[in-house]
Amino acid sequence: MAGSVSYDVVITGGGIMGCATAYWLVRTAPGLRVVVVERDPTYARASTTLSMSNVRIQFSLKENILISRFAFEVLERFEDEMAVGDRRPRIFFRREGNLFLYAQGQIDAARRAFELQRSLGCRVEWWSPKEVRARYPLYETEGIAAATFGPDDGHFDAYAVLMAYRAKAKALGAEFLTGEAVRVLTAAGRVEGVELASGETLRAACVVNCGGAWAAELAATAGVKLPVIPVKRQVFALDTAVKPEGPLPLTVLPSGLYFRTETGGLILLGKSMPEDPVGFDFRWDEKRFTEVLWPELAEFVPAWDRLKIVRGWAGLYDVNTLDGNAILGEWPGLKGFYLATGFSGHGLQQGPAVGRYLAERITGASLSLNLSIFGPERILENRPLSEGGIV
Ligand SMILES: Cc1cc2nc3c(=O)[nH]c(=O)nc-3n(C[C@H](O)[C@H](O)[C@H](O)COP(=O)(O)OP(=O)(O)OC[C@H]3O[C@@H](n4cnc5c(N)ncnc54)[C@H](O)[C@@H]3O)c2cc1C
Repeated sequence: MAGSVSYDVVITGGGIMGCATAYWLVRTAPGLRVVVVERDPTYARASTTLSMSNVRIQFSLKENILISRFAFEVLERFEDEMAVGDRRPRIFFRREGNLFLYAQGQIDAARRAFELQRSLGCRVEWWSPKEVRARYPLYETEGIAAATFGPDDGHFDAYAVLMAYRAKAKALGAEFLTGEAVRVLTAAGRVEGVELASGETLRAACVVNCGGAWAAELAATAGVKLPVIPVKRQVFALDTAVKPEGPLPLTVLPSGLYFRTETGGLILLGKSMPEDPVGFDFRWDEKRFTEVLWPELAEFVPAWDRLKIVRGWAGLYDVNTLDGNAILGEWPGLKGFYLATGFSGHGLQQGPAVGRYLAERITGASLSLNLSIFGPERILENRPLSEGGIV
């Protein structure tokens, strides 16, 4: 007969959100019985391991900027703080910058975001097209009206960060279980735990849904309807005949096409497009690059008219169709049911702040950074967060 085990907190999904939340819970409240249920501990399809691993200060919503500022702090000291015994993670945090390029019609929103970032004490520079060319002579800046450069932005090894959170949470007492949560158990307006595909039940008065692009499916079993859909995004790894002299920042064109240098002299490139398929589809398609993205790339970097596609992959954004921002906190009609989903393509860098926030909310600790602006009430009230410019 399938058994039942009791915990204080059950976390469904062990990607960056699940692992960071588990870590912060056991760090904030030692002795708390926390379990993370993850159906695939290889993380082959988790967005965390399929992402571009970028962290940037360049957002236009204050809370998103503060979240990234905390991520910078965490990443700087991560290798020391997350050591377990003599095992020290190596996360290869490289601050190679993010460069956003704007067409004339985007300047006002970009200027507002820039002023906001600066007012919060962030390092961001406003560049003319001439300055862009001087720094990156490979770039053709026709049609570019201005740019912003964030020298502190950068990227890191997402898998290493994930594994480090997992190992540290475990060392501090959190449990990790391989299994699939198939149903959220509820009674009288409260959660009571989750049922696993194995038939086993995990009992807890607090369930945190960190299921990424799958989160809405599990939430629906408790009657909670989330505006979160899985959208396929593709990344291409390119070997260009002409190599840049040094690392290139994550460069974002006015159309949204983006690329950056990767170790081994490769370029990683992607672009979110309105026709990207909705659903759990992980096939990647070379033609998408050769027919659609390459012509645009070669116009901006003429030297890259000769290159090879080395590989590519597809992963999922958990797109919040209401406003493209995170949904964080306790669902109003269901006590103890917490959500961390809807990150819409920028969640990896939000893991540290989200984990800390949820742990503080759940344990009743005072809030280090109040993220209640992302509360799920806004879904029920149909009140999107309004943000201009860079989400
Ligand atoms: C191509 C691409 C590029 C990206 N680039 C960036 C970037 O540069 N910077 C950035 O900050 N973000 C980026 N993102 C977004 C970022 O990867 C995500 O926002 C973030 O990783 C979400 O983490 P998560 O833990 O919520 O989800 P995931 O990493 O997807 O983890 C969810 C986990 O839950 C498990 N799960 C789901 N349902 C269940 C269940 N019922 N039972 C048990 N287990 C379950 C899944 O197996 C999965 O492992 C990118 C995403 C993609 C796809």
